Amino acid sequence: MTEETDVVVVGGGIAGLITARELGRQGLRVTVLEARDRLGGRVWTDHRLGRDLEIGGTWLHWVQPHAWAEVTRYGLDITRGPRPEQAYWLAGDERRTGTLDEFMELIDPGMRRLLADTMQRIPRPHAPLSEPGLESADAFSVQDKLDELDLPVEEYRANEAAWVGHFNAPLTDGAFTSALRWTAATAGSWHLMHEASAVFRLVGGTRSLVESIVADTDADIRTGTAAHRIEHDADGAVVTTSDGGAIRARRVVLTLPQNILGELDVTPELCAEKRAATEEGTASRGVKVWIRVRGPIKPFFAYSSASHPLSVARTEFLGEDDAVLVSFGADSSRISPHDTAAVADALRVWRDDLEVLEVTGHDWMADPHSRETWLMQRPQQLTRYFAAQQRAEGVLHFAGSDYANVWAGFIDGAIESGLRVAREVRTGLTTSP
Ligand SMILES: Cc1cc2nc3c(=O)[nH]c(=O)nc-3n(C[C@H](O)[C@H](O)[C@H](O)COP(=O)(O)OP(=O)(O)OC[C@H]3O[C@@H](n4cnc5c(N)ncnc54)[C@H](O)[C@@H]3O)c2cc1C
Repeated sequence: MTEETDVVVVGGGIAGLITARELGRQGLRVTVLEARDRLGGRVWTDHRLGRDLEIGGTWLHWVQPHAWAEVTRYGLDITRGPRPEQAYWLAGDERRTGTLDEFMELIDPGMRRLLADTMQRIPRPHAPLSEPGLESADAFSVQDKLDELDLPVEEYRANEAAWVGHFNAPLTDGAFTSALRWTAATAGSWHLMHEASAVFRLVGGTRSLVESIVADTDADIRTGTAAHRIEHDADGAVVTTSDGGAIRARRVVLTLPQNILGELDVTPELCAEKRAATEEGTASRGVKVWIRVRGPIKPFFAYSSASHPLSVARTEFLGEDDAVLVSFGADSSRISPHDTAAVADALRVWRDDLEVLEVTGHDWMADPHSRETWLMQRPQQLTRYFAAQQRAEGVLHFAGSDYANVWAGFIDGAIESGLRVAREVRTGLTTSP
C-alpha cells in the first residue's frame, strides 16, 4: 500500500529536522525518514570515557546567525573547555613549548598573508559565487597557497597544523576558496573564524538542540528507515523505504551529504553536477579522536603539522585524576580512533608524559550514512558544482550543511539550508498544484 503525505524529508540530521519543523508550521504533513536508529546525523552526543562527548559536530558561536537563533529560541546555554595553560608545537623536528597566545602570534603573519584577499574574493559570503573571477582562486588548494608564502619552517608547520584542524583533510585536497569562505563569514578576521569554529559548545550537548527541534514539530519521524529509491515526475514522487513501504509525496527534500547523495537510486537521475560531486568526493576525510589520559594535567593545546597522524590536540575536560583530550588528524586511513596504542604514539610527537587510558571516536568515512566528516570542498567544486547542488530538480529539493551559503560544513549551515529549502518548498506548493 502506498501512503500519502505532503513532504518526505530524507535524513533526520539538523537540516532535515529544521526543514520538517518549518514545513509543519505551515500546516503541511511531513514524514522524516532517518536511516540510522538515532536522530542528529553528524551531530551525536554520546556518553563515553565518563563524559558526554560530541562524536561529531560540537562548536558553535554567536557569529553564526542561524545556530545562534536556535540557541535563543530554545534557551540553550553554551560553555567551553578549560583555557589552555600551555601550548606545544614543532619547529621541524624540535619541540617548542609556550603559551597559546605565542602560538597565535607565530601563525598570525601566515594567516594574514594567506587570507589577505578574502573580502575582495568573497565580499558577500551569503552569495559566495557573486564576485566574478572566483574560478582563478578556486583552482588552488590551501597547500598551494601556503607554499607560495615561503614561510620559515616553524611558521609553515604551525600554519599547516592549524589548517588541518579546520579542514580535517589533506591540505593538498582542500580548496583555498573554503578557507576564504570561512574567513569571509567572520568579515575577514581569522582570529574570530578560529574562535567561531572551535571554542564554545552547548551545555546540554548537540543532543539538546536535536531534542528541542524534535519536541517542536508534529512531523512523523521514523528512525531506522532509509529511503531506498525515489521516482519522481512533475506531479510528485514515490519514495520506497528500507522496510518495504512506499510513500507518495508532493515534494521530497533530500538532506544527504555530498559524498552519498549521488549514490541514491533516483529516477529520473540527479543532474550531472550533483553526481560528479559525489563521485569526486569532498576533501574531508579526517579523524576526530577523544582521548582519556591519566591526570591531573594542566590544560594544553598542541599543534604538529599536516604530515603527522594527529595534527591538533587539546584538553576539553579536566578531572581530578584524569583529563579528556580531543584531537584531529587529516586522514582517517592513517589512524583509527579506536587504536589506543597508535593514538598514544601519535601524542608523543608533543610530549612523553601522557598516559593514555582509553580512546574513542567514530569512523565517519566508513559510515555509509555520511562517508565524510564536515564539508571541505576540493579545488573547483565551489565554482563547478555548488549552484547545481543547491538547485531543486522538479519536485526534489536539496538541503544540508554541505550546500549552505555562509557556514557550509557547520551546524549553522545545516540550519540555514533547512530554512531556505522549507521556504522554497512552501513557495513551490503555493504556486503550483
Ligand atoms: C567529526 C565531526 C566534527 C564536526 N565538528 C563541527 C563543529 O565543531 N561545529 C560545527 O558547526 N559543525 C561541525 N561538524 C559538521 C556538522 O556536524 C555537520 O555539518 C552537520 O551536522 C550536518 O548536518 P546535515 O543535516 O546537513 O547532515 P547530516 O547530519 O549528515 O544528516 C543527514 C542524515 O541523513 C541520513 N541518511 C543518509 N542516507 C539516508 C537514506 N538513504 N535514507 C534516510 N536517511 C539517510 C543520515 O543518517 C543523517 O542523519 C562536524 C562534523 C563531524 C563529522
